[in-house]
Amino acid sequence: MPGTSANAVYLGHHLGSRDPQHISRWAQALTAGRRAAPKCEGDTASGAPCQSCRCEGARHCRHHLHQGRAEDRERAEKRLEKRHADVLKFGGTAIQVHRAHAGLRRLARLRLHRRWKHDPRVEGSTIAFADEADQVRVRRWLVSNCGVDIAAPVVACSDVQAHMSSPRALDRCLWAGWRIVRSNVGLTDQFIENAKLRVKAAVRDDARFWASWAALGEPNETNAAE
Ligand SMILES: [Zn+2]
Repeated sequence: MPGTSANAVYLGHHLGSRDPQHISRWAQALTAGRRAAPKCEGDTASGAPCQSCRCEGARHCRHHLHQGRAEDRERAEKRLEKRHADVLKFGGTAIQVHRAHAGLRRLARLRLHRRWKHDPRVEGSTIAFADEADQVRVRRWLVSNCGVDIAAPVVACSDVQAHMSSPRALDRCLWAGWRIVRSNVGLTDQFIENAKLRVKAAVRDDARFWASWAALGEPNETNAAE
């Protein structure tokens, strides 16, 4: 396969050609390349093997990088981040700019979730409400259906002082409620039950965190911020 500098020689009079036959040959070659490329080693939510192409230098696609090695994931994320940042820096089509913004937001969400695994108190949120009224509706749903007031302190256990919910717990509760509130028609009982279970799990995990935090004492702030 010739390099970029050899493209002019390789393509000859086809370089930049809009000849339909040439374009269809080109598209077929791209499809064949994608088919032949090594596939992601990850599993999809249904358990079936993923069929997407791998990220460069990794064994997983960008959706399943978390299933692979941490260093592969970090390298691939840095490469993706640079690509998105370059689009915003040097400009692109409206779709490219939109995708770059979305890609950067996605990377930030992934990183926040990883930091929350170590410390759910890290400030941040992965949900943004365009309308403040939506958030009020979600809070109301949480209070009336789950008995959870996310503005109120969570009591971890009897001998532990009350704490505010961690940003991670708030985020999980808001997402669970938003899944219900945003589509209030045609929801199955199972769907609603699952949302309530998500809230229950979020509150339970938060209580566990605060209990262990109280037992172990205040972690080193600098370590917690890593
Ligand atoms: Zn995959």
